[in-house]
Amino acid sequence: MKKNIALITGASRGIGAATAKLLAQQDLYIVVNYHKNKAAALNIVQHIIKHGGSAEIIQADISQELDIIKLFEKIDKIDGNLTKLVNNAGILFEQSTIEDLTASRINKVLTTNITGYILCCKEAVKRMAIKYGGTGGAIVNVSSAASRLGAPGEYIDYAASKGAVDTLTKGLSLEVADQNIRVNGVRPGFIFTDMHADGGEAERVQRLSPNIPMKRGGQPEEVAQAIVWLLSDKASYVTGSHIDLAGGK
Ligand code: NAP
Repeated sequence: MKKNIALITGASRGIGAATAKLLAQQDLYIVVNYHKNKAAALNIVQHIIKHGGSAEIIQADISQELDIIKLFEKIDKIDGNLTKLVNNAGILFEQSTIEDLTASRINKVLTTNITGYILCCKEAVKRMAIKYGGTGGAIVNVSSAASRLGAPGEYIDYAASKGAVDTLTKGLSLEVADQNIRVNGVRPGFIFTDMHADGGEAERVQRLSPNIPMKRGGQPEEVAQAIVWLLSDKASYVTGSHIDLAGGK
């Protein structure tokens, strides 16, 4: 029997890496996509193989359409069917107010966080949809609590991109519901990953913890649990939904 393949974008660290490791326990062949950090991506694959799973790394910059096309063409060469996609690779830049936002920065955020997600969905649907000979599948788009909270004074460009991700999840879920493809989203917030250092404040989660109803930040593994559930048959009647993972915020 052909194996089922799961692609996780941005799986070299953080939430993507935790998801790849957990998903590997589900008898899936894992494609660990990364952008720049090959060594970290290889570490995730080695971890998966050491624990009895199977996986490989594929480099691709998801802000580049050609890279996405090549990524999926490489997946086509694997003996199996792509049935799961986790759109996870996302970026943000230094915390700032609107006065300091430039078109260059905004476009980088939107190209990675929206265009990249939409194009990965497009390639996945072309392989999963029944009308194209596929068997169906499940997609999870990693959004953010920022889509609800707006990230004022930090990165409203990033928050706006995540609002678009939520709309993408809704629209695509309706578009492909009759193709046996489920599309859902998770909205994490205040998760301990290196992303906050990219925003210029490595200790951001610790600073904000007193204002989180649960009084703590979250771990990438806690987000991974929700993603893996949404991808699984246990969520077989769930589509167009979002799970909020932000400690009550
Ligand atoms: P992270 O630790 O910063 O990791 C980002 C990952 O994305 C890395 O594996 C990186 O690859 C990859 N990546 C970045 N740009 C890419 C590109 N152009 N093409 C392909 N891969 C790219 O992030 P994280 O905190 O785990 O966040 C993962 C997702 O959760 C993001 O969508 C983020 O917006 C969302 N999220 C996070 C939080 C949080 O508190 N951490 C909260 C809400 C939402 P390389 O390392 O190889 O460059």
